[in-house]
Amino acid sequence: MALMGQMMTMPLLISSLLKHAARHAGDTEIVSKRVEGDLHRYNWREAELRARKLAQALARLGCGPGDRIATLAWNGYRHLEIYYGVSGSELVCHTINPRLFPEQIAWIANDAQDSALCFDLNFLPLVEKLASAMPSIKHYVLMTGRSHMPAQTSLAGLLCYEDLVEAEDGQYQWPEFDEQTASSICYTSGTTGNPKGAVYSHRSSVLHAMGAALPDALDCSARDVVMPVVPMFHVNAWGLPYSCAIVGCKMVMPGPHMDGKSLYELFEGEGVTFSAGVPTIWLGLLSYVKTNGLKFSSFKRTVIGGSACPPAMMATLIDEYGVDVIHAWGMTEMSPLGTASKLNAAQLKLPKDEQRRLLSKQGRAVYGVDMAVIDDEGQTLPWDGLSAGNLVVRGPWVISQYFGHAESPLITVDGEPGWFPTGDVATIDAYGFMQITDRSKDVIKSGGEWISSIDLENIAMAHPAVFEAAVIACAHPKWDERPLLVVVKKPNAELTREQLLEFFEGRIAKWQIPDDVVFVAELPHTATGKLQKLKLREQFKAHRLAGV
Ligand code: ADP
Repeated sequence: MALMGQMMTMPLLISSLLKHAARHAGDTEIVSKRVEGDLHRYNWREAELRARKLAQALARLGCGPGDRIATLAWNGYRHLEIYYGVSGSELVCHTINPRLFPEQIAWIANDAQDSALCFDLNFLPLVEKLASAMPSIKHYVLMTGRSHMPAQTSLAGLLCYEDLVEAEDGQYQWPEFDEQTASSICYTSGTTGNPKGAVYSHRSSVLHAMGAALPDALDCSARDVVMPVVPMFHVNAWGLPYSCAIVGCKMVMPGPHMDGKSLYELFEGEGVTFSAGVPTIWLGLLSYVKTNGLKFSSFKRTVIGGSACPPAMMATLIDEYGVDVIHAWGMTEMSPLGTASKLNAAQLKLPKDEQRRLLSKQGRAVYGVDMAVIDDEGQTLPWDGLSAGNLVVRGPWVISQYFGHAESPLITVDGEPGWFPTGDVATIDAYGFMQITDRSKDVIKSGGEWISSIDLENIAMAHPAVFEAAVIACAHPKWDERPLLVVVKKPNAELTREQLLEFFEGRIAKWQIPDDVVFVAELPHTATGKLQKLKLREQFKAHRLAGV
């Protein structure tokens, strides 16, 4: 008969992360650039006290276990308090992306049946407009102090966040409950159909926070000053608000101020060592730094994910600015972390260009995530770095179903059920490094062969005159689809279609070179800053490839 372990049973609860930070890193700072414009600073001890007061205030409003409390907010200390005060008191924190279309915001709030909404000052007009379309919301809380409350508003009974918090005494004990209880909900951005909710549990969030903090993942430590530029409404800022509490590091939050200048000033002013964001954000920051001939004095490394990090961007950060790049991959359905690109001891002995080639891939699975690439019949493909297939994953922080959807999204792989199909197409090499070649819907199917739009974009981005590039499939009478390259040039740069196409020669197989180039003033981005290929495809639906 099995002998049972004799260790304490302590549920893995999100409140335990904050309690730990308050007790063991109580004096460590949390600095936020407020929507109101100024810098706010306090520490983990004060954050924990105010999160407890918020939990009391929400209970006083009648919110109870399982109630969804929504946010429309930027990265800042009040948002952090809501993360912990809400989840910690057995309510469910539902971060909504404010950059979505207003109708989508209302749709999501209704789908989640949110009972309260906390929002930043600048979203007041939006919320006033949407309130009648969100009947489940009983309480509206403006995340500001009394002096910024509007004299007039159409929101009946609008509450002031600071009033709510200050009215409580903090005499509150974080409750203990089942670690499988829901902690938060995030919706996918709905690039395919309506958005769907991923419901995280306390257990999955805590395990993810521990896994993500490890040296071969995001590598967070008490010696870091961490600035999540990735928004807290985008998959919980990749879990950083939780991982930072585990390690007890200083946090810096940019609020809505994410232009190159504001970010640079915060990096320098607060001594940020580590940051995280999508490639678009770094395009803006790097262009500001370059134009003004600046350097970073404390910035050591950054996680880039959400879309493929172009190798040219990686080279600029590493070689010109001495900032290490951790290319990472994940998705809303995975809390989000799946892989991170870090070299092991043997790989550090490889030639430099081979190391860089590995680093530009999306990387190795972090513990907690198992992955495979499969063919259309559900059979695994070899890890040879060449066989591209559908990427599937499983693990304790991967969803098993979508909120409100009875049918399971999971599929069977090699006869084994329980794998989540990511919708990404990837290869895995003999080192276990995964590389996304495309999203299945973005891949270009040319005469039965697949062309990776990411590969082509990466090459275009390496051209010194290119600011941003996107490749989409264009209908072709003979080949079905052929790649069309859509490019934004750098300001004042000279570049012709022929010069750019020539640049591809020798960098990729001839048959994969784009058939055509179109120059545009800007490219459409999704609410999370990714290229919006759906929109581009619509825009260029009628495009006739040159020579066809
Ligand atoms: P959504 O799916 O709603 O756009 P997610 O943030 O969940 O939002 O996006 C997950 C998807 O983003 C992944 O399935 C993948 O296609 C893409 N992605 C994320 N990180 C990377 C990366 N490092 N390289 C390439 N694609 C990435």
